[in-house]
Amino acid sequence: MKVHVVGGGPTGAVAALEAAKRGAQVILSEEHGEAGVPQNCSGLFSREGLSYLGFHFKEAVLNRIDGARIFLGDLCLEVEKKGVAFVHDRALFDQLLLQEAENEGVKVRYNDKVTNNFYADNVIGADGPHSAVARFFSMGRIGKFAYTLQSYVKRRNDSKVEVYLSPRFHGFFGWVIPHSEEVAEVGVGAVKDVAGAWRYFSSLLGISARPKGWVIPLRFREKTSLIARNKKVLLVGDAAGQVKASTGGGVILGCACAKLAGRFFDNPFLYEVAWRSKWGADFYLHHLIQSTLEHSALLNSLFKYFNKHYIEEYLEKWGNMDRPTKMLSPWLPLYLLGGLKWKERLKDIFMRSWQ
Ligand SMILES: Cc1cc2nc3c(=O)[nH]c(=O)nc-3n(C[C@H](O)[C@H](O)[C@H](O)COP(=O)(O)OP(=O)(O)OC[C@H]3O[C@@H](n4cnc5c(N)ncnc54)[C@H](O)[C@@H]3O)c2cc1C
Repeated sequence: MKVHVVGGGPTGAVAALEAAKRGAQVILSEEHGEAGVPQNCSGLFSREGLSYLGFHFKEAVLNRIDGARIFLGDLCLEVEKKGVAFVHDRALFDQLLLQEAENEGVKVRYNDKVTNNFYADNVIGADGPHSAVARFFSMGRIGKFAYTLQSYVKRRNDSKVEVYLSPRFHGFFGWVIPHSEEVAEVGVGAVKDVAGAWRYFSSLLGISARPKGWVIPLRFREKTSLIARNKKVLLVGDAAGQVKASTGGGVILGCACAKLAGRFFDNPFLYEVAWRSKWGADFYLHHLIQSTLEHSALLNSLFKYFNKHYIEEYLEKWGNMDRPTKMLSPWLPLYLLGGLKWKERLKDIFMRSWQ
């Protein structure tokens, strides 16, 4: 069977690789002359996600991340987790991934921009947030985006990511991600007025840099699979809106969905059921967390509440960058009721009975 994958980003490469492993003849079209350019991504991927997907591209790793500092006004939550994530050279990462697909027999056509020229009856649209495939097959819109501006600045060496929350970021946040000993990526995302958000963030950090912009889908596209014009069409990754809306990360879960697209390329219905049942709950929790960022009063109260309790400790133990469903441990209510200071009380009771 023949499959045409449109887009040579990570999700296109993974979908193509999976379909080829299942014996399909796969053609992948990439509009640029090489994969991974222009680079619009911070390249931060969780260790757990990388190992789940079997991505071990050490040559593309720029930095190891040991946790995060999250700021809201004067408050700061600091979470320590050694080696929780790695920053990658995203262009090289994409190129290595696409090389793997080529090694498996995928025929990659560079400089091949697809508009209506499809080479097979099974089409996988992995062509990013402005998907031409989605447009051609009338698969509806993506209801919400974060508009981003980002740049590189000189910063002291750090192994923690910084996240800045503020109503000035309108439903998203500002970030500083250390890429090397001297350089960090600084960026902002906002559902509206991203230029204002960038001005605010630059003055907060005292930096001056020329940023470049892109978009992050924060919700699913209206349709992510269908049969139309005698073609079976699946969308994956940013084209489908398969992004963690609370962080903007789309590579790990997007590629997890792409594996399913490569497996069910000839059955849109099964693909839809498979990705929604396996990853849907996590995506919806990310949507919920992102919605909280749009309500500053709620965000303020939650942050103050978490700051007073043992939430940092909880995140160090149970935190998961990709899968919020994995964070719902039976201990969560105890931590959220941290006002009871249950840990100290238990220690107290234990010490008293010991004496
Ligand atoms: C500022 C910023 C920072 C980010 N940081 C992170 C991060 O740290 N971690 C993370 O996980 N995610 C991050 N993301 C999100 C991540 O970049 C995307 O979710 C991810 O790239 C989606 O992969 P994809 O393969 O679906 O799409 P893309 O990576 O967008 O790939 C689409 C490919 O399709 C090609 N293409 C497009 N149209 C056509 C066409 N008509 N014909 C042929 N080819 C076409 C493009 O050239 C491109 O190569 C970030 C996004 C932004 C904007």
